[in-house]
Amino acid sequence: MRAVLSIGSNMQDRVEHLKSVFAEFQDEIVASSSVYSTPPWGDTDQDEFYNAIIIVEVDQTPLELLHRGQALEKAADRVRERHWGPRTLDVDIVEIEGFSSDTQELTVPHPHAAERGFVLIPWLAADVHATLGGKPVAGIIGNIPQDDIAGIKVLGRIEKL
Ligand code: ATP
Ligand code: CA
Ligand code: CA
Repeated sequence: MRAVLSIGSNMQDRVEHLKSVFAEFQDEIVASSSVYSTPPWGDTDQDEFYNAIIIVEVDQTPLELLHRGQALEKAADRVRERHWGPRTLDVDIVEIEGFSSDTQELTVPHPHAAERGFVLIPWLAADVHATLGGKPVAGIIGNIPQDDIAGIKVLGRIEKL
């Protein structure tokens, strides 16, 4: 199963938190983006995030993959303080090839992906042919306000940070 993961951190050592995901999936990553610095989205009163996209090929069910991401969040001592608030590590499943789900536990494709430059810009960088809901990600990015896009800056490959 091929899945697109969006990972983010805006607390403590952001690079180290993201690295824990790259390490967990090291043998299953088929493509990945650079790390981007992105302004907080939805709740703007917090530090900048570091975000990246990792595309993985895993021999697991969607829920098993979700739980693997949640284990990484737990390992980063993630505490939920407020909705869309600061976090050590967030691992979201953006999309799974040939699969969709609409439960509270797992909604795929991710319901907010199309509005988030911090997801779409790294995703396009990892896969120029990426599509979301049958539409090219390159085109969906054109619908995001320019102000949102402007704050998203590439920092470099994770191994160089
Ligand atoms: P958002 O989902 O809008 O980015 P968030 O990442 O801050 O918000 P969390 O608190 O990390 O939300 O997740 C809450 C719940 O979302 C988790 O318990 C998880 O079961 C559920 N969830 C539903 N769909 C997904 C998905 N596609 N990827 C990750 N978690 C999901
Ligand atoms: Ca999220
Ligand atoms: Ca999440």
